[in-house]
Amino acid sequence: MLGEGIIKGMVETARNFLGSYVREDRLTTVQYPEEREPQIENARQFPFLVYDGEDWETGLRCVACQICEKECPPQCIYIVKSKDKKPDYKGQMQFYPAIFDIDLSVCMSCQICVEVCPFEAIKMDTDYEWSTPDRFAALLVHKDQLARPNAYYQQLHPTDAAASDAVLAQERARAQAKARAAAELKTKAAAPPPTS
Ligand code: SF4
Ligand code: SF4
Repeated sequence: MLGEGIIKGMVETARNFLGSYVREDRLTTVQYPEEREPQIENARQFPFLVYDGEDWETGLRCVACQICEKECPPQCIYIVKSKDKKPDYKGQMQFYPAIFDIDLSVCMSCQICVEVCPFEAIKMDTDYEWSTPDRFAALLVHKDQLARPNAYYQQLHPTDAAASDAVLAQERARAQAKARAAAELKTKAAAPPPTS
């Protein structure tokens, strides 16, 4: 019948419209900003930097390798590598970012920085309320604003954070085993030769 599709569509719209007054599952909107939909686990907006321990400055996982800076398609990451080094999560001395800025007004939330980081140091946040009349002052964010504890990441994306923790724990165990083996070799080499 001519127009059957249009009638079916209108019936569906009317069903949803009237149903939204009586059935919760027909409500497709919330009264934002008073109400907010809960975020799904893999929601992503802008990146943040993960740190371990209590102090963000000493605990930042980022070693300023600058891979994310090179790979970011719109080039909105700006990093300056430190001159000195500090111990990383494996106890190895590493550079750290003296400056780590992201221009969120340019970031397109592609997550490529996260994919390429070899140190589980940069992850995606779900924070989206960043509207501002002054994008230069508010949206060029620095490392102190980007730093979030691992506990925050664990709460935001529990599945991914557990996978990250497992990778880091494995690397830490490997590094410790290597250090133990090196120490044993050194002790053996320093021991006096057996007397006959
Ligand atoms: S999410 Fe994409 S655009 Fe944004 S900083 Fe990372 S790589 Fe760049
Ligand atoms: S966030 Fe990761 S990829 Fe980017 S500079 Fe730091 S360690 Fe390297």
